[in-house]
Amino acid sequence: MALNRKLAFGVSGCAAVVVAGVAVFATLSLWREPVRPPTAPASQIIELPPVAAVPQVAAPVALPAEPPAWRRFAVPTPVTDLPLVVIVIDDMGVDRHRSLRAAALPAPLTLSYLPYAEHVAVDAAAARARGHELLLHLPMEPVSRSEDPGPHALFTGGSTDDLLQRLDWNLARFDGYVGANNHMGSRFTADRAAMTPVLNRIAARGLMWLDSRTTGATVAPAVAAAQSVPLATRDVFLDHDPSAANVAAQLHLLEAIARRKGIAVAIGHPRDATLSALEQWLPQLAAKGLVLAPLTAAVNYGDFGG
Ligand SMILES: [Zn+2]
Repeated sequence: MALNRKLAFGVSGCAAVVVAGVAVFATLSLWREPVRPPTAPASQIIELPPVAAVPQVAAPVALPAEPPAWRRFAVPTPVTDLPLVVIVIDDMGVDRHRSLRAAALPAPLTLSYLPYAEHVAVDAAAARARGHELLLHLPMEPVSRSEDPGPHALFTGGSTDDLLQRLDWNLARFDGYVGANNHMGSRFTADRAAMTPVLNRIAARGLMWLDSRTTGATVAPAVAAAQSVPLATRDVFLDHDPSAANVAAQLHLLEAIARRKGIAVAIGHPRDATLSALEQWLPQLAAKGLVLAPLTAAVNYGDFGG
């Protein structure tokens, strides 16, 4: 036991001496460092590159401008020489059952969601994931005082600040849309002083405008042209008369306009007769020599209808 302790002392005593020696040597080395000449041959001395050769952080380069929203969120236009038909379904999102039935139709439809619909962000995103193009269905003042365009609607006659605040509330409710069209709005879209700040903001957001033509007095095409807003125009309403016979007749009219002009735009609603008619009609398009296209195809095509 005593021997072990002595051995242990001996080992630790030696270690202490070695540590102390290393410490003294290191201290002397440090002290001598400033005056010690280089000991390595000149060829082995690593020279730092001159400052000018150090790789420099690249100067900021202007990135190509991001495409405007109406192109960024567009569904690709089919490449074909066949006539194109565009089906826009307005008033999406409030009647959720029928809206989901519309979104289940073959894509690409163009689905225009009411911003105040409770589940609009979720439902619009799901529809876009199914291959549909999205629009924002902007509530606007109708001529008839008995019709209610809904909460946060745009009205004529107020201040521009109030108008733009209402517009911004609507624009912020969901995303992924290529543009907007009017819900009701027969009075608002005929009012140049009201439409100008709205389409100015639409232009600033890189969005397109679909003129639903709920009034023949619409100023939207003229104001959109002045603000360089990409524009499309509705050719046919499918279901103002929601009977099955009328919807069928309107689809027939849409086909005729598409064959004559190369592209035609219809607007319908998530109503039973309309949805049933589209469930039958859409699978027959190929046999008719027609191709379903998103609304942005009507802008790309350069034919604004009318
Ligand atoms: Zn509407």
